[in-house]
Amino acid sequence: MSATQTAPARDRLRIAIQKNGRLAEPARSLLTACGLSWRQSRDKLFCYGESLPVDLLLVRDDDIPGLIADGVCDFGIVGRNELDEQGAARRRIGLPDAYQALRGLNFGQCRLMLAVPEEWEWTGVEQLAGKRIATSYPAILADWLAERGVDAQVVELSGSVEIAPRLGTADLICDLVSSGATLAANQLKPVETLLESEAVLAGPVRTPDDARAGLMAMLLRRLDGVVKVQDSKLLMFRAALDRVSELTRLLPDADPLVQLPDDGGHLRLQTMCHGALTWQRLEDLERAGAQGLMVLSVERSLA
Ligand code: ATP
Ligand code: ZN
Repeated sequence: MSATQTAPARDRLRIAIQKNGRLAEPARSLLTACGLSWRQSRDKLFCYGESLPVDLLLVRDDDIPGLIADGVCDFGIVGRNELDEQGAARRRIGLPDAYQALRGLNFGQCRLMLAVPEEWEWTGVEQLAGKRIATSYPAILADWLAERGVDAQVVELSGSVEIAPRLGTADLICDLVSSGATLAANQLKPVETLLESEAVLAGPVRTPDDARAGLMAMLLRRLDGVVKVQDSKLLMFRAALDRVSELTRLLPDADPLVQLPDDGGHLRLQTMCHGALTWQRLEDLERAGAQGLMVLSVERSLA
């Protein structure tokens, strides 16, 4: 079915996630944290939603953008790299946009990078003229080269991209990098970043106008309530009024301090802090006049 045809009305939502691989477990945990649960089907390709009418489809990550484009699934959890590649490939052949990244999900972080043999002295993109670049992301790479007016040859490979320079099938590569260990093991070094990627919640360009719209809105709100507070902590302490401005200065990554009913001359304060609250920071706050410091984990919020 093409993206321009209207998918039949449905009253259950379908979310595609990776069956096996890097994004499989974190995607499932995130949805569980949003209050979803499923009855596992025997073949485990389809999981029937029990707590809400939200079913899961377990697939290869490469299939997720197409399932959304065809209206088979309403949402998908997939790397921005995969979504952008398939989106760029559609645009190159004149197809309209059929999906979009709705939220960054704060896991699956990696970069799409150019990497060259270690012995190369990297002086800039003009060095790429006439070179062969092996990649599994030919559309993103071709767009990136075209934007810079570089005429290089894109060699599309579906896997084991990092050995292409040693095999002589390419001069350099464009591939996903997280720690850089795979590059180093293949005597390659990263030189340019094409894309900063993470797992995203992908959805259709147009929201369906049936029962799914309400479910989609509810799920987005719950996701925000889990993802936005993931790196946040609730910080509580007591302090004298004349210490508050210095303590506020030490908390640039926190929301404005909220004053609770006071406690024998000392203010009782709390704030949501979005950066790391290390022991060192707590000791600095204590020296600046904070007493009875308490750091609490935040599981979910409804803003
Ligand atoms: P599938 O069988 O589903 O096709 P795959 O081999 O394509 O699996 P994985 O290797 O599990 O996929 O990677 C899935 C996603 O994880 C990538 O598309 C990317 O968004 C993210 N990712 C994070 N770090 C890395 C990394 N170092 N290498 C590759 N992908 C990474
Ligand atoms: Zn894949």
